[in-house]
Amino acid sequence: MEKKNIDWANIGFGYIKTDKRYVSNFKGGQWDEGTLTDDDKVVISECAGVLQYAQTVFEGLKAYTTEDGKVVCFRPDLNAQRMIDSAQRLEMPAFPEERFIDAVVQIVKANLAYVPPYGSGATLYIRPYMFGSSPVIGVKPAEEYQFRVFATPVGPYFKGGAKPITIKVSDFDRAAPHGTGNIKAGLNYAMSLHAIVTAHEEGYSENMYLDAATRTKVEETGGANFLFVTKDNKLVTPKSDSILPSITRRSLVYVAKEYLGLEVEEREVFFEEVKDFAECGLCGTAAVISPVGKIVDHGNEICFPSGMDEMGPVTKKLYDTLTGIQMGRIEAPEGWIKVIE
Ligand SMILES: *Cc1c(COP(=O)(O)O)cnc(C)c1O
Repeated sequence: MEKKNIDWANIGFGYIKTDKRYVSNFKGGQWDEGTLTDDDKVVISECAGVLQYAQTVFEGLKAYTTEDGKVVCFRPDLNAQRMIDSAQRLEMPAFPEERFIDAVVQIVKANLAYVPPYGSGATLYIRPYMFGSSPVIGVKPAEEYQFRVFATPVGPYFKGGAKPITIKVSDFDRAAPHGTGNIKAGLNYAMSLHAIVTAHEEGYSENMYLDAATRTKVEETGGANFLFVTKDNKLVTPKSDSILPSITRRSLVYVAKEYLGLEVEEREVFFEEVKDFAECGLCGTAAVISPVGKIVDHGNEICFPSGMDEMGPVTKKLYDTLTGIQMGRIEAPEGWIKVIE
């Protein structure tokens, strides 16, 4: 497969149009057989459910080239299941797990020339999504839906190594108790935009959101879950019904226990105890782990002992092990790697 002439190391995290995308339509109570298309434009009613009432959910995963030259995806079954959960919460039809995985495989195969080579640090980002496409004006679920998957190559998240970031405790809330914080829906992102733009203007990379009810417990950032490491090397990760169940976080918890022999606590984490942790990181598909060096809470700074120059030692072991599994350098647990080519 001849690769596209792309400067893989410098493409950044943006949208680059690739050759093919997958489309399936839900109409009359069922999904059609689905197809690949060259057409990157979506034509829907001006009154479509997604445009009026934000009835849309999405997923994000990656394909990459392993050390031995295979093209693989990481745990796409979990993305499929999570998208079903998200869809159900917004009264949308489920797109079946096997069909989701098949669509991902088709999209990667059809855009193989855009899968970055091993060692470039770049990956092919895959975006499955679904939206209400039929007209809705009185508030109710749409009757018709479109499921689509496109792929776009993205550059290495950290150019020249992962530098710890500084984040702030947000005055905004991300998710309400019993709300939609635990599903991957565009609506959760729309309402985070003002908070992230404000944080960036103030010089912070991200927002730490606290629980909306008591503002005493750590939830997550706009798009990544928290990991903490205690001074005696335990991994601690916040548990809450209103955080998004990150596949990266669930995988890192497994890696911590089974590969690194670490003790793991998945539990409520009070903001009050954050100052006592040794390391902090954010985890998600995009970066795997972004180390956090400093958290600012209305002028009070929490500076982690791991500092502002590099990842803490436990965070680094977690990062190296999981990326090693993804890139085929370390043996993966059964079922984690979906070989595409
Ligand atoms: C997608 C997402 C994450 C990260 O999940 P991964 O499955 O690890 O990519 C974390 N938080 C939110 C709010 C998200 O939408």
